[in-house]
Amino acid sequence: MNREGISILIIYTGGTIGMKQNPETGALVPFNFNQIEVEVPELKKFHYKLDTISFTPPVDSSDISPDFWVKLVVTIQENYKKYDGFVILHGTDTMSFTASALSFMLQNLDKPIILTGSQLPIGMLRTDGKENLISAIEIAAASRNGQPLVPEVCIFFENRLFRGNRTTKHNAEHFNAFRSDNYPPLAEAGINIKYNFAYIHYPTNKRDLIIHTNLDNSIGVLKLFPGITPLFVDAVLNAQDVKAIILETFGSGNAPSQPWFLDCIKKAVDKGIVILNVTQCHAGSVDMDKYENGLILKNAGVISGFDITFEAAVAKLMLLLGKKLPSESIKQEIVKSMSGEISG
Ligand code: ASP
Repeated sequence: MNREGISILIIYTGGTIGMKQNPETGALVPFNFNQIEVEVPELKKFHYKLDTISFTPPVDSSDISPDFWVKLVVTIQENYKKYDGFVILHGTDTMSFTASALSFMLQNLDKPIILTGSQLPIGMLRTDGKENLISAIEIAAASRNGQPLVPEVCIFFENRLFRGNRTTKHNAEHFNAFRSDNYPPLAEAGINIKYNFAYIHYPTNKRDLIIHTNLDNSIGVLKLFPGITPLFVDAVLNAQDVKAIILETFGSGNAPSQPWFLDCIKKAVDKGIVILNVTQCHAGSVDMDKYENGLILKNAGVISGFDITFEAAVAKLMLLLGKKLPSESIKQEIVKSMSGEISG
């Protein structure tokens, strides 16, 4: 692998990774990320050109909104031709949402966009941040015959590289914070970084990067639970200005079969609301033909989310609604894989 002349842009957005302990108060405070080499002197050992951009102020990722995703993709587009790869440092809480959104907003991507962060601040002795940052840079820079090894939006965390739109944060405490239950890791870092080439998407034609920046967040979520009441279902499905609902169902896409429930669903579908069936299970897929309690949803006009994650469903719906398509066209588009977020 040729390491000379490679340039990587590190975009710091916030989150635990960019913090250190104030020696006087013990509290965590963000440090000046442009001086990252002071905190991580190991970076000097890379023979790449490493540049940094810091978003100001750095944010806790719980504060992230679609405007922030637009700011990120515009930053990537402005720098796209100048760099071989991008590393985005981001809080872990909503990293999977951001990775999903970027995978849909950046069309014709042919360079690595690697998101990472940490559970412990980079300035702390036992931090996982250094390892995550160093490996993420290594992966963003990895190429063969001038072609990047992973031209996708990914999350690297605790030794594993995942397709970003397949991930979920599943652990608030362990270093191993992310999972991708429906898609294998794209790479695993041990003594060497081993790439799973068969699972990485490579563009077949060279096309210019296109960014999609119109996002419409008029969506809602209805998570089912035993004992859910008609009043609650009605309130969610009739919330003002909602154009699409993620229906979080049981198992392979099942829901209560009571007439009042189906009646509410049918009325919402008739009003033109897109209802996407996403299972509450982390692994496996919606299959509305499997049980009667799924088939009734299909017959009522609910659309299958297949094995999409909740995070990817949120981002995909916002992007499709942003195209201002009629609901019938959105229903046709949502079942197609846009960036490898669903199988099949
Ligand atoms: N609350 C933090 C965030 O998501 C946690 C982290 O950085 O991992 O921004």
